[in-house]
Amino acid sequence: MSTITPLKDLQTLVSLCKRRGFVFQSSEIYGGLNSCWDYGPLGADFKFNVKMSWWKTMTRRPDIVGLDAAILMHPMVWKASGHIDGFTDPLCDCRACKTRFRQDQAPQKNGKTICPNCGSTEVTEPRNFNLMFKTFMGPVEDAAAVVYLRPETAQGIFVNYENVLTSMRKKIPFGIAQIGKSFRNEITPGNFTFRTREFEQMEMQYFVKPGTDMEWFEKWKETRLAHYSRLGFKPSSLRFHQHGPKELAHYARAAFDVQYEFPFGWQELEGIHNRSDFDLTQHSKFSGKKLEYFDEQTKERFVPYVIETAVGCDRLCLAILCNAFEEEKLASAGGEGDGDSRVVLRLKPFLAPVQVACLPLSKKPDLQETAFKIRQDLSEEFRVDYDETASIGKRYRRQDEIGTPLCLTVDFESLNDKKVTVRHRDTMTQDRVEMSRLSEYVREKLRSF
Ligand code: ATP
Repeated sequence: MSTITPLKDLQTLVSLCKRRGFVFQSSEIYGGLNSCWDYGPLGADFKFNVKMSWWKTMTRRPDIVGLDAAILMHPMVWKASGHIDGFTDPLCDCRACKTRFRQDQAPQKNGKTICPNCGSTEVTEPRNFNLMFKTFMGPVEDAAAVVYLRPETAQGIFVNYENVLTSMRKKIPFGIAQIGKSFRNEITPGNFTFRTREFEQMEMQYFVKPGTDMEWFEKWKETRLAHYSRLGFKPSSLRFHQHGPKELAHYARAAFDVQYEFPFGWQELEGIHNRSDFDLTQHSKFSGKKLEYFDEQTKERFVPYVIETAVGCDRLCLAILCNAFEEEKLASAGGEGDGDSRVVLRLKPFLAPVQVACLPLSKKPDLQETAFKIRQDLSEEFRVDYDETASIGKRYRRQDEIGTPLCLTVDFESLNDKKVTVRHRDTMTQDRVEMSRLSEYVREKLRSF
């Protein structure tokens, strides 16, 4: 029997990500830029697949349409949304060691804030620090030219509510989905890509008739859990956390976080919020435009309520990698890697950056040519890698580590019998398959994972 160990510490994953081209530190040759990360060749493909699966699950329903709004928006948007006045963290400075920290995360003793770095109680009164990045539009750097990098994608959806409603002739209930970058000048970024200052969000705002909002809220909780299950999460690795009255954002009537158990503890992955009519009402007030809905049937006019599902794409990518990571000590049973151990990413094939690896057993030109031809043929439909370096055992390990579900090995026999060996990532079992029916075979196998 082999023994399986899940991911124990984040550092193991961080080094795998670097070694295998998933994620690199941003501007590394200059010493890196704190909390900023670049997705390498495999990471970029993987992240794209994660986004694609979210996009499909949202926009292939008849009641949801997509949007891609600009990052820079009119400054009034952030006045109306409450971000200019309220998107702040309370910061204290330690007089002893000069550390700056968030008061709401620092330990308290007898009503006094304690510096989390040195333990001193000599700390300043908290000051509110706005998390929005500010910049200037155009050539003049004065107050009139200030614009913000959006701290969430949601507002792009709210300000386009009327445009989408009329151009797409939507009827309530309907939703708008968007994927895009957001920026927050977080005080304490960290845990790799879990909390960063530049990140990508996948948000969907669902507009409903007031009074039906809690029913839709419950439906969306279920729908989102079903999506996580398709991504490969076991129910036991996820849980809901309900926001208590003190945690609820100013706009929210109800809020649940989907939490995942990362190696550093249970943490929020996604927020599901009932935002009431707060946003549309605010934008109506500040823009002077009526943002309502007219129900043709009942002849009622109302401001819709909004149920929002908001997940960080980078955070989800990290969770998927943590969840897929396994270290397996292989049994001494005379099989592949006898008594050895391997790291395997058990990614669902639709998420894996490489779905099929074509491996000629040796560098003999006939084998290379055949493997290359297979690579070319399969590339039309699948994400295919070709690798001819190192021993076949090492190449299998490399593919396991990046989550490749199937390896196709072209050996000397292949030239005669026109078959290849298909080796399966999860079971390490092998099949001999005719080259002429490879596409069909791969398609069927990838679907069955
Ligand atoms: P947190 O409490 O972790 O700061 P939040 O409750 O402010 O997050 P939301 O505003 O609800 O987060 O944003 C929705 C999602 O966006 C979060 O669930 C998370 O996945 C992602 N997200 C938020 N902030 C960051 C960040 N700094 N880095 C990466 N992802 C983030």
